[in-house]
Amino acid sequence: MKKVVVVTHPLVQHNLTRLRDRRTQPQEFRRLLGEIASLMIYEATRSLGLKKLAVRTPLETTTGSQLEREVVLVPVLRAGLGMLDPILEIIPHARVGFIGLKREESTLRAHFYHKSLPKKLEQCEVILIDPMLATGGSAVAALDFLQEQGAKNLRLVSLVSAPEGIARVRESYKNLPMFTAAIDRQLNDCGYILPGLGDAGDRLFGT
Ligand code: URA
Repeated sequence: MKKVVVVTHPLVQHNLTRLRDRRTQPQEFRRLLGEIASLMIYEATRSLGLKKLAVRTPLETTTGSQLEREVVLVPVLRAGLGMLDPILEIIPHARVGFIGLKREESTLRAHFYHKSLPKKLEQCEVILIDPMLATGGSAVAALDFLQEQGAKNLRLVSLVSAPEGIARVRESYKNLPMFTAAIDRQLNDCGYILPGLGDAGDRLFGT
């Protein structure tokens, strides 16, 4: 079973602590989440495959590299939107899909309310962006859907993860590359991560 990569970069941990702070307002929350997303994507894309190609400089021909596969980013709505634009700054050629999932409060089960994906996923590196990996229900539902749609090369980026969510994803996806900024203690009875940062979507958009 593959280990979850915890991105321990000091700037990530510094910003995450400010995100956790209940006093941090939406404007600042958005900025901090964006900075973390930019730093995390470096780690999450470190193992992307490259292929060699010849490139002519103004002086001679040399061997260079280009990404082996196109990158597709799939943020889970709403909170995933907070990480999308900063990642697109770094991978501007990425295509983007969207998955809207809502947790039913009584059962904590995930329901799709929106799905839109680029074509030919089987030829792409697909990065699922689900900032809060809580029960793991949404992440697994999203991963299952992406696989059904042909995705073969998948990875998951989450900001904060609960051990329960990681275990749930690992039950179905033993070797999926997973990246997070923190593995927190546990879930509470309502499915919130403790200590966590509250509802990421609400804090991001001020709802
Ligand atoms: N979603 C959130 O936004 N926060 C949690 O703690 C759990 C799920």
